[in-house]
Amino acid sequence: MAKNIVVCKVCGKPVKAGASVANACGTRCNKLLAQGVNAQVIASAKQAYCVQTIPAGFITIAQLHRAIAAAPQHGASVAKMVTSTGGDRPYLNISVKGIGKFASAICVPLIQAGTKTRMLPAWLATPQGMQAIASGVFTGAPKAHALQTAIYNKAK
Ligand SMILES: [Zn+2]
Repeated sequence: MAKNIVVCKVCGKPVKAGASVANACGTRCNKLLAQGVNAQVIASAKQAYCVQTIPAGFITIAQLHRAIAAAPQHGASVAKMVTSTGGDRPYLNISVKGIGKFASAICVPLIQAGTKTRMLPAWLATPQGMQAIASGVFTGAPKAHALQTAIYNKAK
């Protein structure tokens, strides 16, 4: 028999810790709630990053993760990748101040509508892209997608 799984009322992810289960809200989400971020704010924030068709030349964040882990000689790390791409909740960066920062417009993940998959330009997985993630200098990056640029300019 399946155990009842309590999901967070803000982000919808399963809640594990005892106190959080009672409250149906994770610790981090409790802080978000205090800033007015509820499930609706999150849903509409995610919507802002959605595209019907992922542009050519984009890869999943999991693919970028593997490329970086396989090529440490370029100086990037998975931690730097997460920071550069706006943290682990990048969709909140346009609605909440101080959640995360995109290192460059090209680091703004787009989401294929109807999925949860974050997609990023494959350039980030090239040696030049990984060096940019390592240094924070993105001057050699190709032009970002128009939606990436729009979100980057809106991010707080
Ligand atoms: Zn949550």
